[in-house]
Amino acid sequence: MSLSIHGVGMTSQRTRDRLIAILRQQNIKNETVLSVISEMPRHLFVDEALASRAYENISLPIGHGQTISQPYMVAKMTELLLEDGNINRVLEVGTGSGYQTAILSRLVRQVFSVERIKPLLDNARGKFRQFRLNNVLTCYSDGGWGWPEKAPFDAIIVTAAPEELPMTLLEQLVDGGKLIIPMGRKGEQELLFFRRIGNKFHKKTIEKVSFVPLLKGKSG
Ligand code: SAH
Repeated sequence: MSLSIHGVGMTSQRTRDRLIAILRQQNIKNETVLSVISEMPRHLFVDEALASRAYENISLPIGHGQTISQPYMVAKMTELLLEDGNINRVLEVGTGSGYQTAILSRLVRQVFSVERIKPLLDNARGKFRQFRLNNVLTCYSDGGWGWPEKAPFDAIIVTAAPEELPMTLLEQLVDGGKLIIPMGRKGEQELLFFRRIGNKFHKKTIEKVSFVPLLKGKSG
């Protein structure tokens, strides 16, 4: 791997290890998730000017009013996703920088990711090519509608918060499938976990969170 992928100074393996120690303190326990995060060059998913802050446990701006998710949140959602074993097909709503997508691509068979802001999606697609993530399929669309042509999914992860639950997403889950989604208005959001059992949906509240809003329609 090239120097830029391994990183130097503030993007070095030592800096990344510090992040992993913080995630452990925050009760992330899945060793596979921790090792994928430790190997993923997060500094290459943000603007060069922000690269030195890429291994801090914070969200960072990626342009267009959006943010790359906080590493803790990526770890937590991914851990929930893998809670009871392997997953084949995942839908991610909100590709953004592509960082969470890249993490998922190392852990599941096929990732489908939908983004409504074209320049962000184009940029993320470039990263997937650069890292040869051949099991990622993306779509420029309003992910509030899921991705009906590719449904059903074993799990759906939403990385932006709607104020109301998009029922369409629940309908695109297999029996036994799960939806991990932040929900609520700014300042009062919670991370929710739904499991589909037949045509019933069981809900668990995980914790308070802060995400950008899930918006409707596409934006060029
Ligand atoms: N997983 C991303 C998070 C980016 S922030 C990362 O780690 O970088 C959330 C993203 O959701 C933004 O890029 C935003 O444009 C996108 N988004 C918001 N509403 C959406 C919608 N209805 N459909 C698809 N993407 C949406």
